[in-house]
Formats: sequence, C-alpha cells, structure tokens
Amino acid sequence: MTDLLPTALAILERLVGFDTVSRNSNLKLVEYVRSYLDEHGIPHVVLPSEDGTKASIFATIGPADRPGIVLSGHTDVVPVDGQEWTRDPFALTREGDRLYGRGTTDMKGYVACMLAVAPVLQRAGLPAPVHLALSYDEEIGCFGVHGIVAHMQSIGLHPTAALIGEPSRLGIVNGHKGSSGLLTRIGGLSGHSSRPDRGVNAIFHAADFLVRLRACGEALAAAPDSIGLFEPPYATVSAGVIAGGSARNAIAGDCRIEWDVRATKPDSTAKILAGLEQFVAAKMLPEMRARHPGAFVLIEQVYDVPPLLPAAGCAAETLAKRLTGANSVGTVAYASEAGVFLAAGIPSVICGPGDIAQAHTADEWIESGQLAACLTHLQRLVP
Ligand SMILES: [Zn+2]
Repeated sequence: MTDLLPTALAILERLVGFDTVSRNSNLKLVEYVRSYLDEHGIPHVVLPSEDGTKASIFATIGPADRPGIVLSGHTDVVPVDGQEWTRDPFALTREGDRLYGRGTTDMKGYVACMLAVAPVLQRAGLPAPVHLALSYDEEIGCFGVHGIVAHMQSIGLHPTAALIGEPSRLGIVNGHKGSSGLLTRIGGLSGHSSRPDRGVNAIFHAADFLVRLRACGEALAAAPDSIGLFEPPYATVSAGVIAGGSARNAIAGDCRIEWDVRATKPDSTAKILAGLEQFVAAKMLPEMRARHPGAFVLIEQVYDVPPLLPAAGCAAETLAKRLTGANSVGTVAYASEAGVFLAAGIPSVICGPGDIAQAHTADEWIESGQLAACLTHLQRLVP
C-alpha cells in the first residue's frame, strides 16, 4: 500500500488555502480540482449553481457503464467570523500530529484523501467505478448535492452505495435526522399605532403562528416515533429568527419567522407543514383578510435534507465495514448529504476522518493519523 499521506497533506494545504466559506464562490477550488483530475486523466464534469458563482464537481474512475460507488464530500466551510482563531484559518498549520485550518475536519481532510487516492484507483483498473462527488453549499442546506444526484440520474448511473466522509472518527454512521429550513412570511397592513383597528398587525399574527408551531412541537414530543434511534426520539420544530415591523408606534405590516424541522421520517416535514397550512387557511387568513384583503401568510421551504434512516446490512454499511474493519454502527445528531443520496435510492452511510467536536470551531484541527487511516481504508477499494 502506498503512503499517500504526504500527497494528501499537500492537497489539503491547497484546499484549506481557498476561502470557500459558503457565502463565497468555490470556483477557484473547483478549478484546482479540475486541473488535478486532468493531470491524472480522470474524467469529470463541473455542475454549476444556477447563478454560476459556485459549482460541484463529479468525477468517475473506472468503467462508467456499470453500477459503482460514490465517495462524497463538500467543498464549502462555515464562516470564521466572531471566532477567536490563534492561527490563520485559511492556511494549513502543522503542529505535531495536529493540522489546523478551517475545514480540516469538516471536511476538506476527507476531500484531500479522496483526491490523493484517485490516481491509485485510476491505475488499478477497477472492475466497477468509483465516483467522486464534491458539492457546494452543504453547510447552508445541502444545495449542491441535489445537482449531483440529478446529474447521475440524467446519465443513467445507479450507484450501489455512497460513503459520505463527514467527520465520524472513521466510525460508521447509518442514521441521522433530516433537516428542513422553513420561512414563514406574514403580510399585514401598517398604520399608526394609535389606530390598531385600521391595520393588520403582522407581529400579532406571527404570534398566533408561533403558538401553533410550539404546540405542534409539543404534540410531536408526546408521541415518540423512533425510540432508540435518535435523540430526542421524535421529530422536532424550532423557531430560530423572528423579524418584523418598523417602529414602536407603527402597526407592524410584516413579519418573518425562520424555523426548522428535524425529521425522523421521510414524511415528517410534509405532515408538519400540512398541519400548519391548514391552521393558516382555517384560522389566520380569514381573520386577517376580514380586515385587509391583501393580507397573506406564506410558508416557504428553503431547504430540505431528508433523514438518513438506518437499513441494517445495506450495501453502504457492508462496504464501509469492509474498508474500515469496524463492526458497529451508530447515529449522529447532525444532518448530512447522506439523506439526499438515500432519498435518491442510493444506500448511504457516513464514514469520515476527524471528530465532529472540532467541526465549525475556532482553530479547527484534525489529527494526521485520522487522514492516514482514511487513506488506508480508501486504498482497500483497489480489488
Ligand atoms: Zn460537513
């Protein structure tokens, strides 16, 4: 087995050097990966975002005309704003066994491993393909991976398994809740606060919505549906941001609520939404529109990451066990692209280097030993 650690570290150094915080373009990183793949004769396709400022990259090693497996990672990272870094977040700093830099754990370390192993796989003459899937905007709602899945479907690829290299200390994770981001916009009618009878106060109506949302969360908690799988063992709702109105002495004409659902089943979010839509139609709108016909309540699903539901003995779990030698599986609290691959019919598990405890933190780091072990596992893809 080749010692690929120096190669992976050199790649990681380049990857960390690109400031791919989700609000920024990742195209320079994509360009670097493209030229790397070109250099090694690995075919790939770039899948741009709608506005063209970002892109995913999808590469295929081995014969594309038969079912293979997907190795998946995201290229974006979370911001460093407001964090107390003592090192440059966008430069790789090596101190002993630790490699510091934004994204070293989440998850440029894994991406570097994928790329370091790629030429070895390319030379091996694989009987079935290994696809490399690098997405954008994972951290803000798993947006980029949908284009990768659509691309695979459009060219008739049916991978048998996907391994998502989110940090799990190379343990196998076969389950997590889903994560859906929602936005409720409430439009009322503004006016002078001395005449509330002439307006429709969007903040007051937002309060009705929130009371209903909270009751919905309490009802979910009262009837656990996934005992032993997830913590807590039921789908949850949470309101995260509320904003509305313009002045104390004006009737609030608008209000917006950002909230989220952590689903335990594929249809959890749809059911919650249906209940709230029904409440809006039956209770809120009649009351608001009796005062102002233009009043509205709109609920928009901003992103949707389906849950990863454990399927004991699925192809992805079997593959991850073979590569890592691990026997046990677990679940995690965070959501990942695994749920998107699973929803597209591709059995998926998470298995990646580094510890989630270091993800998103100041002075994020990964142990070089985690990368070395990951490289050993990935080289077992060579038959
Ligand atoms: Zn991640």
